[in-house]
Amino acid sequence: MPLFMPVYQSNSALFPLHIADADCPIDACMVNAYFLYKNRATRTAFEAGLTLREHVGFPRLLMTDSGAFQGFDRPLLLSNKAIIKFQERIATDIASPLDLVTPPGDSRSLAERKMEATLKRVAEGLPLVAHSLLTGVQQGGRFLDLRLRCLERLLRMGCRYLALGSLVPFFTRNHDLTFVGQVIRDARSVAGEVPMHVYGAGDPVELPLMAAMGADVFDSSSYVHFARQGYYMTPYGALRDPGPLLAGEYRCGCASCRQAAAPGDVFADEARLTAHNLWTICDSVRRLRQQMASGRLDQWMDQLLDQHLAWFPASRLGVSWNALHE
Ligand SMILES: [Zn+2]
Repeated sequence: MPLFMPVYQSNSALFPLHIADADCPIDACMVNAYFLYKNRATRTAFEAGLTLREHVGFPRLLMTDSGAFQGFDRPLLLSNKAIIKFQERIATDIASPLDLVTPPGDSRSLAERKMEATLKRVAEGLPLVAHSLLTGVQQGGRFLDLRLRCLERLLRMGCRYLALGSLVPFFTRNHDLTFVGQVIRDARSVAGEVPMHVYGAGDPVELPLMAAMGADVFDSSSYVHFARQGYYMTPYGALRDPGPLLAGEYRCGCASCRQAAAPGDVFADEARLTAHNLWTICDSVRRLRQQMASGRLDQWMDQLLDQHLAWFPASRLGVSWNALHE
């Protein structure tokens, strides 16, 4: 059943507030382990016995990513072993290796080298964890056969949690999810029941399609970025202006919107817009679970696409859905 992990914003006063909001239950949370590791004060506190759960103040599932946003040929700022051991020590539930991000422009040979290096780092990390589950990260860039081979090898190594890496550049404004959907579907065809995470997926209108193809877990800080750019998320796509709200085509049930004097007020207030966006993702995932549990995902996708395409006629989401569904 789908699960969404907002990326924890340690410097935002807004985030902890909404963890405590009973109206917006957050099931799980993604924390950047590298920020904690490189900050001397937090690292010292962790060395003295502080756990990640105490630090974040969140009782449910916690996952850490390694902060592996670095190139292949540049010297490593930290070692794979060190960051995995650190995540195990702070008792994260799901740890991540230092995988090698592979942008769509990478050639086949480079993508293959990065995939091999990532596999080696996962193999190196598996014996280092006991409390935490180590994520088997799939790389392979834009090459479907490399991605499939990578996933098969992760499964043979014994990975019990999988993540599909380097898909973020494919999440575009026109919502063409054909490639992403193929990657997810291929992966699910060999992964059995192993949980499968899509890094960086956080637009509520895209999550049902990914879940239909076999993805389970999503994480993103999209709720912050969308708000910063003035986008108001809805289950049918993010709006730039309150027109559809004023026309009565959509009404949101979150606290920010309920307390607003006029439907468009939340658009002009970044803090309230951020809270609204986070609530909307969590609520969409909750609804997605209900539709899946009752076997109505296809009907719900049709309904969702009708509204989405009415608002965004140029979107490729419906085309992707049809292409994947044939
Ligand atoms: Zn709202």
